[in-house]
Amino acid sequence: MKSRGIVHRTLYALAGLVAIGICAAAAALLWMDRRVTWESAYVAARNLAGVLSADIGRTLQVYDLSLQGVVERLREPGIAHVAPETLHRFLFDRSATAAYLGAIVVLDKDGDILYHSGAIDPPKLNFADRDYFRVHRDSGDAQLFISKPYHSRLRGGDESIAISRRISNPDGSFAGVVAGSLRMAYFRDRFAEVSIGPHDAITVFRNDGVVLLRNPYSRADADSEIDVPLDFQQYLIGREGAFVGVLSHDGVNRLYAFDAIDDTPLVIDVALAVDDLLEPWMRRAALIVPVTLALFASVMAQIILFRREMLWRRAFEQQLEKQAQTDGLTGIANRRTFDEALDREWAAARRDRKPLSLLFLDADHFKRYNDRYGHQEGDELLKMLASALERKARRPRDLAARYGGEEFVVLLPDTAGQRAEEIAESIRRAVVDLGVPHEDNEGGIVTVSVGVATAVPREGDAAAQLVEAADSAVYQAKEAGRNRVAMAPA
Ligand code: GH3
Ligand code: MG
Ligand code: MG
Repeated sequence: MKSRGIVHRTLYALAGLVAIGICAAAAALLWMDRRVTWESAYVAARNLAGVLSADIGRTLQVYDLSLQGVVERLREPGIAHVAPETLHRFLFDRSATAAYLGAIVVLDKDGDILYHSGAIDPPKLNFADRDYFRVHRDSGDAQLFISKPYHSRLRGGDESIAISRRISNPDGSFAGVVAGSLRMAYFRDRFAEVSIGPHDAITVFRNDGVVLLRNPYSRADADSEIDVPLDFQQYLIGREGAFVGVLSHDGVNRLYAFDAIDDTPLVIDVALAVDDLLEPWMRRAALIVPVTLALFASVMAQIILFRREMLWRRAFEQQLEKQAQTDGLTGIANRRTFDEALDREWAAARRDRKPLSLLFLDADHFKRYNDRYGHQEGDELLKMLASALERKARRPRDLAARYGGEEFVVLLPDTAGQRAEEIAESIRRAVVDLGVPHEDNEGGIVTVSVGVATAVPREGDAAAQLVEAADSAVYQAKEAGRNRVAMAPA
């Protein structure tokens, strides 16, 4: 029984380990999967930002070199005396031209056009109101300046940004501005080549927070300066890196990767929607989690069912065991239990050199009782006798049992003859006190005869001797007139 308990407990522990192992493995798998998904998204965002920034940087650099060339050539002595066509060629012939590049203009210190790369005879226009003109005029140290988007006056309102450099007099005072325009279509076409998700965004902004362009393109954003939270500003200062957060008004959590466009005040920012990045992972998790839970539940259910089955079986076995030990009619111990107890107590008495007593009871004229009152009533009487006996066998090791038919025994360990006789007498009297009518018995009520035998077992003695002695004592009691106790000779 004990070892079976250990086996069961080990089984439960193993099954529990399996269940926990399944869950742990699934959790670890999901966690690693999420990390890999996240890291590859991070790398992709950084790469995209890096590639776009390098590409745009190269274009701006080429254009800036053209501007610097013009500034240098304007410093050449004596250009004021050169004929207009020659001067135009001298200033602009080596300048870059490309589909997205507009004209290069040279403005004087009042913002009027001095020279124009597209026309020898420039239109009479003033640009003193443009931000780039004011920046160069007001701060002497302005290097390359990139303007906010504006609508070109020279190209029918085409949306552009100006990149510009200051022209200084030899004494450092403001002499004017050389500015070139870059069509916003350049950025839009660049971004259109890149495939991004529906909730992703690419933004080009100046490091003072002015948004130049956002893809997907939205006019509402283009002019507005973005709200710049504190940690975002730190990235602007660092001008490279990535972070996760909610920056836009749509409340979408995004992974932001930044990259500074070299030698310019521009930063490019690739924003990928976190939910979209993790969507494939979520789909895998949505498969793995229920499967894992189902496995876990099935293992747990098996443990519970197995345990229930075990408990049921154990209860059943205990019931069988009890049935095997008790007498079906009277409910007290049966002959088998008595035989086992007798052997056990006999051995114990021999070991401890203690007296062992046995009472043997036989109902008087029970055959007649059956004959007169019927077998059913006889059975009822046997039950009454059994419970009267049990009440007298009080000590834990005392045992009352049905020996067979209408004969009962009471085993009394560590009980000397005199005490056993007292107990026998009290049993006899108890039966008399029941006062069960028995017309065919002496006195008209049910009585019993009791034989008492006591022994201090010695080496070689058999337990059966004690039973025989008690049995013959009963016989003597019957001979002597029934309803009495007889002692076997010591
Ligand atoms: P006495 O012992 O006083 O000499 O007379 P007695 O009639 O009891 O004689 P004996 O011991 O030989 O008879 C035993 C009777 O007990 C026989 C049977 O009718 C009855 N008996 C035995 N077992 C059962 C039982 O399980 N139920 C019932 N109702 N009667 C039983
Ligand atoms: Mg008998
Ligand atoms: Mg009898």
